[in-house]
Amino acid sequence: MRRWNGWGDTTTNYPLPENALEILQNWVGPATPPHDVTFAQAVTAVPDSRLPEHPLISRQAEVRLRHARGQSLPDLIALRSGRIGAFPDGVAFPNSDEEVVELIRFAGQHGFRLIPYGGGTSVVGHINPEPGGAPVITVALQRLNRLRHFDETSQLATFGAGVQGPDLEAQLRARGYTLGHFPQSFELSTLGGWVATRSSGQQSLGYGRIENLFAGGTLHSPVGKLSLPPLPASAAGPDIRQVVLGSEGRLGIITEATVRVSPLPERDDFHAVFFPDFDAGREAVRRIVQAGLPLSMMRLSTAVETQTTLALAGHEKLIGTLDRLLTLRGVKEGKCMLLVGFTGNKDVTKTSRKEVLGLAGKFKGVHVGRQFGKQWQKGRFRTPYLRNSLWEVGYAVDTLETAVNWSGVPGMIAAIETALTEAAAGFNEQIHVFTHLSHVYPTGASIYTTYLFRLAADPDETLERWRLMKTAASQAIVAHKGTISHQHGVGVDHAPYLAAEKGELGMAVITDLTRRFDPRGIMNPGKLIIG
Ligand SMILES: Cc1cc2nc3c(=O)[nH]c(=O)nc-3n(C[C@H](O)[C@H](O)[C@H](O)COP(=O)(O)OP(=O)(O)OC[C@H]3O[C@@H](n4cnc5c(N)ncnc54)[C@H](O)[C@@H]3O)c2cc1C
Repeated sequence: MRRWNGWGDTTTNYPLPENALEILQNWVGPATPPHDVTFAQAVTAVPDSRLPEHPLISRQAEVRLRHARGQSLPDLIALRSGRIGAFPDGVAFPNSDEEVVELIRFAGQHGFRLIPYGGGTSVVGHINPEPGGAPVITVALQRLNRLRHFDETSQLATFGAGVQGPDLEAQLRARGYTLGHFPQSFELSTLGGWVATRSSGQQSLGYGRIENLFAGGTLHSPVGKLSLPPLPASAAGPDIRQVVLGSEGRLGIITEATVRVSPLPERDDFHAVFFPDFDAGREAVRRIVQAGLPLSMMRLSTAVETQTTLALAGHEKLIGTLDRLLTLRGVKEGKCMLLVGFTGNKDVTKTSRKEVLGLAGKFKGVHVGRQFGKQWQKGRFRTPYLRNSLWEVGYAVDTLETAVNWSGVPGMIAAIETALTEAAAGFNEQIHVFTHLSHVYPTGASIYTTYLFRLAADPDETLERWRLMKTAASQAIVAHKGTISHQHGVGVDHAPYLAAEKGELGMAVITDLTRRFDPRGIMNPGKLIIG
């Protein structure tokens, strides 16, 4: 069963390694475990529903609680403390596109609000009802999860938009194909959510981001149906797919999506290379990606992230051997780990491996084989469970992400990490902060920063600490001309910074689009654009 107040399935845990508490204390000080409310206590806070009865809508308090919040740190603070604020008045689980259309009609008729809900994995407040205002129906799309059409000749698969990652991949794998879209939230997030938030999977360097994979589909809006034919390419004016991508539930509900799939690869190997410092690693990565080699991933950690990963990996013997080997090759303190994904045909991956390792060697990169890559691959969807364990001993973790051109990468990393550290110093706390380049492009890279800090005794104080750090980091991102989001979307938390990126006319166009699709403002108000 899914956890109601944390990440993932209740049967999966990620216990902290033995020495973790000592390490955490050294980084940010000793912490006190929080007093979390129980599910039963949280349910008592759910107010009566304001909705009339409807056969498609559940008004049960338990169901409404489970759909009240996403997975951001403020969401976690709210759920664990029981200070949840707003709840949907009902949750619908449509079984068909027709039922989705009926829900939109019903909401329109009565002036109710609708929140499309995929996997509820948003980390920026996308699926949270606004406090106050009209009654809210959350539309959980998980039952629209079937493979509806498979055109093997064209390598196109059409799914119900509520299909979750593992289910989607299983249905494709049975036919010898993959979508290759693996966000870290893969276990729970859905195809419709990926499209609506412009998601990026860990192997986007090879398979492409969701905007490359999304060929077309169907969106039902309050003013009617929008069909997007899955054409290979088109010069027929502006591309309306791009309007649906990133629409964050403001324009309507995506009920099906056609995606471009690939045959299962012969090889899907991840190798580790260690560089003496981050500058060397970054230059190597830039040269490799600009050489256009067929890779599925390059993920370069800063020295602090490398140290953190190795310290929390819990494989002391292996890490001791690694350190000795790297020291002999001149890679010591300050080392930075690069993980490279070689995915595809046997011969092609062999050739690209040779090229990549050759280029890495020019920057003093030391190839250490597949072992670290294998471990990363094995644990790639397990890492978010660590957040639950850290919370239980009194530590909060949050992540931030942006993208910027190569020339701006070093300045951006420094600016974000400094902004977070200084904001924490303002409330007399230390944070542990580290960064990696998570997605790379010929012209730039995404920057993904993680920061860990102690929970305060009062959950409102923890929330305030988060707010101060998030604001400082977001302002740093805007000041250094990065995007306010490379992959998590806008939701509520990033909405104040969107205008800096889109400009006045750009914002007016987005606002006009929401009005055209949804003149009465029933779709997911308060998200993407303020108001
Ligand atoms: C631990 C963790 C790791 C993550 N890793 C990544 C990552 O690697 N890459 C990445 O891109 N993101 C990542 N995310 C963020 C999140 O998983 C993505 O934003 C994801 O795309 C959300 O999908 P979802 O189905 O959960 O959507 P939800 O959270 O349910 O909804 C997100 C938004 O999309 C809208 N929406 C959802 N479905 C539909 C639909 N069918 N029609 C219309 N609108 C819809 C909702 O209204 C909402 O505005 C991570 C989140 C967590 C918690």
